[in-house]
Amino acid sequence: MAVTLYTDRRMIEHRPPERHPERPERLEAILRHLERTGYLKSCPAGTVREATDEELLRIHSPDYLKQLETLNERGGGSVEADTWMSKGSLLAARLAAGAAVEAVDWVVGDRDRRALCLIRPPGHHARPAAAMGFCLFGNAAVAAKEAVAGHEVNRVLIVDFDVHHGNGTQEVFYDSGQVAFLSIHRHPFYPGTGLLDETGTGAGLGLTTNIPLPHGTPRAEYHAAFRARLHDLADKFRPELVIISAGFDAHAEDPIGDLGLDTDDFDVLTREIVDVAKTQAQGRILSVLEGGYNVPILAGCATVHLHALGAEPAKK
Ligand SMILES: [Zn+2]
Repeated sequence: MAVTLYTDRRMIEHRPPERHPERPERLEAILRHLERTGYLKSCPAGTVREATDEELLRIHSPDYLKQLETLNERGGGSVEADTWMSKGSLLAARLAAGAAVEAVDWVVGDRDRRALCLIRPPGHHARPAAAMGFCLFGNAAVAAKEAVAGHEVNRVLIVDFDVHHGNGTQEVFYDSGQVAFLSIHRHPFYPGTGLLDETGTGAGLGLTTNIPLPHGTPRAEYHAAFRARLHDLADKFRPELVIISAGFDAHAEDPIGDLGLDTDDFDVLTREIVDVAKTQAQGRILSVLEGGYNVPILAGCATVHLHALGAEPAKK
């Protein structure tokens, strides 16, 4: 099964200050590892472009876009406590969201299409009118909106296994009957949201599933909870497209995350989601990179994830 890769080295030019965990080396290391292991050669490359204002304004406010543009014209600076813009950041963020849009356009075109967007900055904390937690634009949310607004997809399921709750994605679709959201995350932890009783409202009531787990949760328990709640939501919602917010910071060796997982756990999680996409969504699945801050571990996890999505490395 081919998995189309959407990435662009200009996203390396998003350069927060020294020692910021969301470093350019994250993407460099993933690409180097994929090259070394033969995946960069075997996976088709999708087209990446900047997201348009129209695509971003489907989830973000015009004032917020203007705020980022103004900061960009000044050469960058601090956007909020954890989020920074350098000279290349706005372009990188537009490319990240645009990659996700392009990936959706391709994936929904036929059955059994799979794509992985290796992008930064990440997106799942970005709020409609504010940057948050290293995120500028809600890449997964922009992608889901493209599916429902730009195509005739009625039901999109976003599955977020980043160690942090995907508060931005949840906020965008909390009252939506078209986009369901499942997040498994460490709790209590940043950003503080994602409790069991946050389940959606209005047309979206029952379509938000949160699985908050304390630090120290055994891996078997993590997997059992994930599997059960994922199938509950997918069986009820019957998604036509599945989007993964793939953060790898739940790895035990992540410097800022850590929910005790090891690299192979991302193989199990990914296969579980692929199964849902196969039975419910005609095999249509798209994954976007979120967190993961131990650079070598991240490269290994992203490769395991790509393999579990169905990619095979080129033969040497
Ligand atoms: Zn995270």
